[in-house]
Amino acid sequence: MAILKVKDVSKRFGGLKALTDVNLSVEENSVHAIIGPNGAGKSTLLNCLVGKLIPDTGSVLFDNQSVLGREPYQINQMGISRVFQTPEIFGELTVMENMLIPIFAMRDGAFRMHAYETIANEKEVVEQAEAMLEEMNMADKRHMHSASLSRGDKRRLEIGMCLSQKPRLLLLDEPTAGMARADTNNTIDLLKQIKDERDITIAIIEHDMHVVFSLAERITVLAQGTPLVEDTPENIRGNPKVREAYLGE
Ligand code: ADP
Ligand code: MG
Repeated sequence: MAILKVKDVSKRFGGLKALTDVNLSVEENSVHAIIGPNGAGKSTLLNCLVGKLIPDTGSVLFDNQSVLGREPYQINQMGISRVFQTPEIFGELTVMENMLIPIFAMRDGAFRMHAYETIANEKEVVEQAEAMLEEMNMADKRHMHSASLSRGDKRRLEIGMCLSQKPRLLLLDEPTAGMARADTNNTIDLLKQIKDERDITIAIIEHDMHVVFSLAERITVLAQGTPLVEDTPENIRGNPKVREAYLGE
């Protein structure tokens, strides 16, 4: 079953057609990569899935329910969590304080700073956050200021923050962008572990082909705002159209 169905989605920014008639189905419990050159419309597409942008035309169904017309937090509560292209953690807060945010947000629809003041009464939230840090192998870093984490650990925390919401669909926008190889490999391992251990669908936008071919079961190639081809990694690798449009060969 397709958990996410994008039908004929188009989006313009003034005269610029960022997306034109995009169709995409993501199978439940699969890892689906969306690749394509810079400016292809990948982030725009992701933004249309989470309510940050509203498509001009078309429909987006998650679990057969339309996400269009809903606020980002409502889409989040439907079961979609998203990791941004640049880390969205609060550097001045500790690892634990960051981890509490999405759990509160999921429960209350929004995070309010005074939530921290009542934390003594929030046993369940704290336990959930602790369990997630444990699962992310970050329990020993819980009191660290998040700004002092390595790039890989920042990403790990962010992914943990998303998972704490128990999403059915995890969206990642270039999760390894700007990372050194070792951090990239750690992120690949983490995502493999998540895929193996959880009932979750992952849609990942990624530039790094090593990451894509390590994780994806299906790949959609986006070029100039429109899907060029969708196929298995093996077929994508050998597809001359893809090599020309994307791999630059
Ligand atoms: P990708 O993520 O594939 O690199 P984007 O979705 O970020 O591509 O961008 C697709 C196109 O839309 C680009 O030409 C980009 O400059 C343009 N674009 C993206 N967001 C905006 C915006 N908010 N306003 C105007 N143009 C935008
Ligand atoms: Mg992008």
